[in-house]
Amino acid sequence: MIRHITPLRTRLVGLGARVQSKMVHHKVTIIGSGPAAHTAAIYLARAEMKPTLYEGMMANGIAAGGQLTTTTEIENFPGFPDALSGSELMERMRQQSAKFGTNIITETVSKVDLSSKPFKLWTEFNENSDPVTTDAIILATGASAKRMHLPGEETYWQRGISACAVCDGAVPIFRNKPLAVIGGGDSACEEAEFLTKYGSKVYILVRKDHFRASVIMQRRIEKNPNIIVLFNTVALEAKGDGKLLNVLRIKNVKTGVENDLEVNGLFYAIGHSPATGIVKGQVDEDETGYVQTVPGSSLTSVPGFFAAGDVQDSRYRQAVTSAGSGCIAALDAERYLTAQK
Ligand code: FAD
Repeated sequence: MIRHITPLRTRLVGLGARVQSKMVHHKVTIIGSGPAAHTAAIYLARAEMKPTLYEGMMANGIAAGGQLTTTTEIENFPGFPDALSGSELMERMRQQSAKFGTNIITETVSKVDLSSKPFKLWTEFNENSDPVTTDAIILATGASAKRMHLPGEETYWQRGISACAVCDGAVPIFRNKPLAVIGGGDSACEEAEFLTKYGSKVYILVRKDHFRASVIMQRRIEKNPNIIVLFNTVALEAKGDGKLLNVLRIKNVKTGVENDLEVNGLFYAIGHSPATGIVKGQVDEDETGYVQTVPGSSLTSVPGFFAAGDVQDSRYRQAVTSAGSGCIAALDAERYLTAQK
């Protein structure tokens, strides 16, 4: 849906950047189009910093507008008591960015060079020509949840299958129903514990015969009577009535025995992949590939290069926290650019 918003205008802007690539310089460039990117754009545009935002074209497999475009109702973004769809929320953010003068380009940034100032960047359309230059960059390219791509998963994705318990756990289809979480780390334990607020019981499927989670999390799981841990267990197939998930085919990897587990919800907690490919090796990352920022800021190991949203946040991963960090990045970038004058 997001991809169809004012396509002509944005494509013409993008075309302008392609044709005139020799001359293009942006004061501040935002890469991404989720809540972090658009919040940064709104703040920078209102501060008259003339931001340019590359929103991507199915970058990282996600439509412009980010992860929220892949979901239905958003009930936890403040200001919308009656909820609204993820696509509508992102459309509104995009309109707000554009209203204050953000130059939105519908192209995917394919390469960035942070080795000297001004920074250089190329998009998928100008890879073989002169780069666009920029004094500062805010990376807000987000992340994507790892999925197993089980048979049946495409049918029941967002119809029983999710990768975010905090986002989706409260929806009616999961209320007082048996649910399953796949994963063996702290996230899986946290998600399972959270889901016991809504589900009748929660199974945790762990491929190995032990958790990777911290001991303290394991103790909490053991004490929760509504959580059942199935070790040595993998999921084979998601099944349902064509509309909603109601069974997970599972297998004990030790015995080889297969069973149907009746569940109405399946939550993946097997990690996320931050979209950092274009800056790999150029900026410090943590051990799981997230861009490292100085705590409480968007500052990275490269002055003038800032990171916001899920691409630098492996913990909270929410629209409102991403928006908050987009605001922080805009204020950090503005301060940086003002000091450069
Ligand atoms: P993202 O939303 O990940 O957006 C990044 C964007 O950058 C993408 O559009 C991508 O295409 C683009 N991009 C990537 N690389 C490039 C590039 N090289 N050039 C140009 N563009 C690029 N959170 C909530 O608070 N409430 C919810 O109810 C909720 N539900 C969710 C449901 C689902 C199914 C999912 C997957 C997530 C949900 N979330 C929810 C989490 C929320 O969507 C994310 O935390 C938030 O969108 C992260 O925002 P972001 O700005 O960091 O980036």
